[in-house]
Amino acid sequence: MSRAQVISFAMPEFPDVRVIMPAGALGPVEDEPFLDHMLRRLAISTSKDPNQEWAEKYGTDFENETFMINTACYCDKNDCPWGIVCSCPQSAFHYFADGIEVTFDEWMAFFDREIGPEPKSGDRKAWKIYLRLGTEINKRRTERHDPVCDFCSTGGIAATKGGGAGQNAPNFWYKPTDFKVWWYKYIGRDMQKNRRIRRTTLERIFADCFVSLGK
Ligand SMILES: [Zn+2]
Ligand SMILES: [Zn+2]
Repeated sequence: MSRAQVISFAMPEFPDVRVIMPAGALGPVEDEPFLDHMLRRLAISTSKDPNQEWAEKYGTDFENETFMINTACYCDKNDCPWGIVCSCPQSAFHYFADGIEVTFDEWMAFFDREIGPEPKSGDRKAWKIYLRLGTEINKRRTERHDPVCDFCSTGGIAATKGGGAGQNAPNFWYKPTDFKVWWYKYIGRDMQKNRRIRRTTLERIFADCFVSLGK
């Protein structure tokens, strides 16, 4: 078996053990459970107090030259790469009805005026027409959000930790190939990746992460 087909990594929890297995031995190609599992392992291995912060569930905050792992944050502060949110002024938001720019209130009123009163409840035929009309009216009103604030235009502080324009810093960042994962509140929930990735590639990524811990 060639070197490229073999995965070999140490397990920080068991310093005397070195795991060697065929690449892909653990399962299918695109594999969320595997990603999920390895993120938890990595969090436990890098946490200063895995029980206290429940690293297996929420992750932990750790970074070296190879990777970064970070708990989710919803602080809304513009000095936090994970919690920064849009702070565009009102003038960055534009609303259009039939191609003409209007105020937000006019934009809302346009819909109400065009659609008219609701049908009687239970009148299924009338409701069907009403809902179809609503879809048509919505095609006639559009909105545009110009990227004005730091977060929307460049990512601001988020860009310093792997984020980008309008995108918070990820919760996992493998730096050599710029592979990123975001999760919502805890590992595994609504996870987003910046690209599709093969199981064998994930195995190499995590093997490299554990090696980078020098254990
Ligand atoms: Zn924060
Ligand atoms: Zn913004």
